[in-house]
Amino acid sequence: MPLSLPILGEPQHFSLIEKLLFAAMAAASGYLFWRRFGMVLRKIFASKKDPNFKLFPLGKRVWDFFWEVLCEAKVIRERPLPGLAHAFVFWAFLAFALVTLNHCAVGLGIGFLSPDGSVGRFYFYVAAAFALACAVGILGLFIRRFLVRPKWLGEKLSWESGFIALLIFALMATYLAAFFVVDTSLPARALWWLHTLALLTFLPLIPHTKHLHLVLSPATIFLSRGTFAQIPPLKGDEDFGLVTGADLTQLVSLQAYSCVECGRCTEHCPAANTGKLLNPKEIILGVRAYLNDLGPASDQPLLGKYNSQEAVFQCTTCGACEFQCPVGIEHVPILVGLRRGAVNTGEWENDYGAKLFLALERGSNALGISPAERDKFIQKQALPIFDGTQEYCLWLGCMGGYDPKGREIIADFARVMNYLGTSYGVLRKEKCTGDPVRRLGNDLVFQQLAEANLEALAQNKVKKIVSICPHCVRTIQEDWKEYGTPPEIEHHSEFLARFAGKLARAADSGTAVEGFGLQPVHPTDPRKMGASAPEGQEKIVFHDPCYLGRYRNVYDEPRAVAALVGTVIEAPRNRERSFCCGARSHRRANRRHRLPLLQHHVPRRPFRH
Ligand code: SF4
Ligand code: SF4
Repeated sequence: MPLSLPILGEPQHFSLIEKLLFAAMAAASGYLFWRRFGMVLRKIFASKKDPNFKLFPLGKRVWDFFWEVLCEAKVIRERPLPGLAHAFVFWAFLAFALVTLNHCAVGLGIGFLSPDGSVGRFYFYVAAAFALACAVGILGLFIRRFLVRPKWLGEKLSWESGFIALLIFALMATYLAAFFVVDTSLPARALWWLHTLALLTFLPLIPHTKHLHLVLSPATIFLSRGTFAQIPPLKGDEDFGLVTGADLTQLVSLQAYSCVECGRCTEHCPAANTGKLLNPKEIILGVRAYLNDLGPASDQPLLGKYNSQEAVFQCTTCGACEFQCPVGIEHVPILVGLRRGAVNTGEWENDYGAKLFLALERGSNALGISPAERDKFIQKQALPIFDGTQEYCLWLGCMGGYDPKGREIIADFARVMNYLGTSYGVLRKEKCTGDPVRRLGNDLVFQQLAEANLEALAQNKVKKIVSICPHCVRTIQEDWKEYGTPPEIEHHSEFLARFAGKLARAADSGTAVEGFGLQPVHPTDPRKMGASAPEGQEKIVFHDPCYLGRYRNVYDEPRAVAALVGTVIEAPRNRERSFCCGARSHRRANRRHRLPLLQHHVPRRPFRH
């Protein structure tokens, strides 16, 4: 006997009264949707235009849209099970676009997909498969939110989310049930009306709830700045950063309204995880609340009632929040923008900040040490001075030039470069890249440092830079672009990884290479290049620095280098999920305040001396 599949039992004929009733309900639902959605759109468009925003080239935008929106790749990758459940719901929504259009058209007597025709029948079966997956997915999400209740979703139970989950489930259930009734029967008509009721109740709820992301997030992802944690330039002398509503840009407003309140950002935030006040989700919701209450033209401060200054300055700019966010919200520019506002208007009063700004304005490094100390170090290590003939400029940075541990790395790396026969030199005069002040929001000092360094590099005809510091690499490569064209730069792990073969042979020989500085490996110091450690003896856990991993996408190179001298094992949080060490750009400079996040003792007010 041939297998006979059930046919969608959708009523095809409605009375005039039914049609009028449906039209009135649909109009009311559409009006309620638009009343709120139109207001949100007006607030977004009334916000200030983003300086330097460029829509083109479109290639990356289209790819991100395809990968992150249509494939839901990020959502699934970062939280596989809930991500998949969410993806089922989203894909079902896409599949249901046509089903819903036809459903409404049928209600008005102008249906265009017939369950009896081969195209209609095929499409309805495909939609049924998605409906089944969606029903399972929404049930899973409901259980997670109301029974499992991960703390990142917030203490308060969201009944609104529960009601919406119920509506989505009802939409899917009524659609699937229609396959088991005859289109002319009373149950078919009842199912059609139940489906309609669920649909027309759901529609106006979208812009009134976090489900607004359904409509906005595709645009948010498509229009994102494109470079990870990119800090946009200030526009003119009157632009102080995010001070009041009038400073909120269209992208910031769009992102604020797109937040789905999933808490992924907070789950991965090192500050939130160590008991700080900072909660990146609340920062975004604070901006949204400001827009709702006061709008984008308001001259009320953004920091105060809606967001806390203390929280904003606790951010390490590690980018974990931005990396995790499934709807393309860019937290780092917002946090730095709020800091800019506080610093440029003199609202941020902080001893440590004031000392740092002064040290960088007057001197050349964030540690406030005399540059003569750097000269002494260069002489002691006999580091060659860059004279325009060498291939690389070895960038010391504040840590490499002044900090004892940083100096050790520079000395070791210089020995390896010598061994490899790579020509290099250090700048006679080098200033801090400005990374700490850039992230803290002091653009004036940052500009001075960036311009002075760019000039020195141009005068010395530097073409390539290698640096031991991921922050220097990022700042030189990306942030300096605002003031000129920086030379090519790479992190020393990228440089070393290219020579892994040669270095491995040196390591295998088991002997120090006379005159080239390679030393036999020290059993407790795997950084020393030289003899290989007996297999399994030396275990190395590589901590991915935020500015090398998430910011630069460099994960394999440092592991390849570390593997030359031991066995690399992975920490539970590794690669793009690496947990910030807490040093943060502006805090590395202050040894008393470094690494607070990885310490067991977590100071509540980390900026206080
Ligand atoms: S950048 Fe890092 S520290 Fe700052 S809010 Fe995001 S996750 Fe938290
Ligand atoms: S900002 Fe992004 S990651 Fe954070 S709660 Fe909102 S949608 Fe989720």
